[in-house]
Amino acid sequence: MITFEHVTKRYGERLALDAVSWHMDEGECVAFVGPSGAGKTTLLRLVTHEIAPTSGTVTVGTFRGPRLRRAKRALLRRTLGIIYEDSRLLNDRSVFENVALPVRISGHFADVEVVPRVLYALEEVGLRPKQSAYPLELSAGEKQRVAIARAIANRPAVVLADEPTKALESASARELIGLLKRIHDEGAAVLLVTTRPDVAEALGGRILRLEEGRLAGGAPPPAGAARPPGQAAYAGPPPQPPAATRAPDQPGPPPVPSPFAPPQPPGAESEA
Ligand code: ADP
Ligand code: MG
Repeated sequence: MITFEHVTKRYGERLALDAVSWHMDEGECVAFVGPSGAGKTTLLRLVTHEIAPTSGTVTVGTFRGPRLRRAKRALLRRTLGIIYEDSRLLNDRSVFENVALPVRISGHFADVEVVPRVLYALEEVGLRPKQSAYPLELSAGEKQRVAIARAIANRPAVVLADEPTKALESASARELIGLLKRIHDEGAAVLLVTTRPDVAEALGGRILRLEEGRLAGGAPPPAGAARPPGQAAYAGPPPQPPAATRAPDQPGPPPVPSPFAPPQPPGAESEA
C-alpha cells in the first residue's frame, strides 16, 4: 500500500532522508522510531505528497510519484487521515464542526450523510457528549481525540500520526494509543512516527528505526540485487532482533492493488 524505493530528500544542503526503502501492506500497523531530526516528519510529508522526493519513488496505493499534480494530491489526501503533535483544531469551531469540515471538503457526501459520519467518529473516540464544546474548553488529551475523530471521519485507508502523544501525559497517551490500535483493528492501516520507543511498542505493530535519515539495520541493497534464496519479498519480520526492519523493498513486486484509490488513466503521472 505504501512503498518507498530509494527515497532521498534534501532541503538545500540538508540531507533529511538518505535512500530509504521500505514498504507497508494494506491494513498494516507500522511505527517509525527515531530522535528529533531523524527525518520522521519528512517521511510522512512524502507519504501525503506534500513534498516531493529529491530522488526515488513514493507509491501510496495507486498514487505513484515522483510528482503528483495538485488535483491528484487532493484525491490522495482524502484517502489519508492525519494526526499531528498539536491537534491543529480550529478554535472558533465546535468539536462537531472540526470533525465535519474534512467530510464536507471531501465532497463525497451529501449533507445528510455528514452528520451520522461525524457522530460515528466522535462516538469512536468517546467524545459525542462534547460535540458542542469548543477546543479551548478541552484537555490536551480530548483535543487529540477530536483530532483522531477528524482523521477517521472520512474512513481513510491509512491513518498517519506524527508524534501524536508528544503533548500528552501518560494516561492520555495510553488512551490515544489504545484508540489507534482500535482503528487498526477495524481495518485501517496505521503509520505512526515517534521519538519514543515505548509508544511504538505500545502500538503493537512493526517497528522501524530511523536515524539521521537512514533506516537502521543496514543500507538497502543496490537496486536489482538478488534477495537471499528462499526469502520472499515481504516475508514478515526478520528471524532475529534487534533489527525490526524487514528486508528493504526492492523494485520488482507489482504495486499492491488498492481498493481505495480511483482508477488511474494509463500512463498518467506515473514515474517519469
Ligand atoms: P523529525 O520529524 O524526525 O524530527 P524532520 O523530518 O522534521 O525530522 O527533519 C529532518 C531533517 O531535515 C532535520 O535536520 C531538519 O532540520 C531538516 N528539515 C526538515 N524540514 C526542513 C525544511 N523545510 N527546510 C530545511 N530543512 C528541513
Ligand atoms: Mg517531526
